[in-house]
Amino acid sequence: MAEVAYWWRGRLHSEREAPPLAVPLRLVKVESVEWLCPKCGERAEWGPEPRCPLCGARCEPRTVASKVPELVDAAEALERAFSRVCRAGFRGAVALEPFGLFLPLFAWKPLDLELPDGSRLVGVYAGKPRFLKRGFRNGSAFELPGNLAAIVWSGFLECLAFEVEEPERLVELLSS
Ligand SMILES: [Zn+2]
Repeated sequence: MAEVAYWWRGRLHSEREAPPLAVPLRLVKVESVEWLCPKCGERAEWGPEPRCPLCGARCEPRTVASKVPELVDAAEALERAFSRVCRAGFRGAVALEPFGLFLPLFAWKPLDLELPDGSRLVGVYAGKPRFLKRGFRNGSAFELPGNLAAIVWSGFLECLAFEVEEPERLVELLSS
């Protein structure tokens, strides 16, 4: 099984110390080339050619493997985080006007939580199932089934709808 780290507020944690809503991220192996000194292992200094800053020997390329967390988008990250607490599924997304007529239709709880892709969870709303059954966007009706709305800011405002088993508990955990 691939190694997994847990992401919470910009930091990676092990499973044991991860908060309940930390996002599980697989660690992926990436390979890169580094120029190192064959004698002291120091990293090359780049002049006209790669030289060791300590002894001046010519450095050689070496493939270095490191592990980095995979990058997942906001919807995937939240679905994984919610799924650690209860059964949860992503049901769709819609762009919102920051001061549009749709926003006040539900009173959402403001938050400020950074997500792994750099977007921010700025609010959540737990409501009746299919609370976004009908709305208007560009004059056309849309449906977003779900009982938990996550309002995400990633340069524009987006509403992500989830169908979850315990919406109230998730809102509580997110707000604590
Ligand atoms: Zn050297």
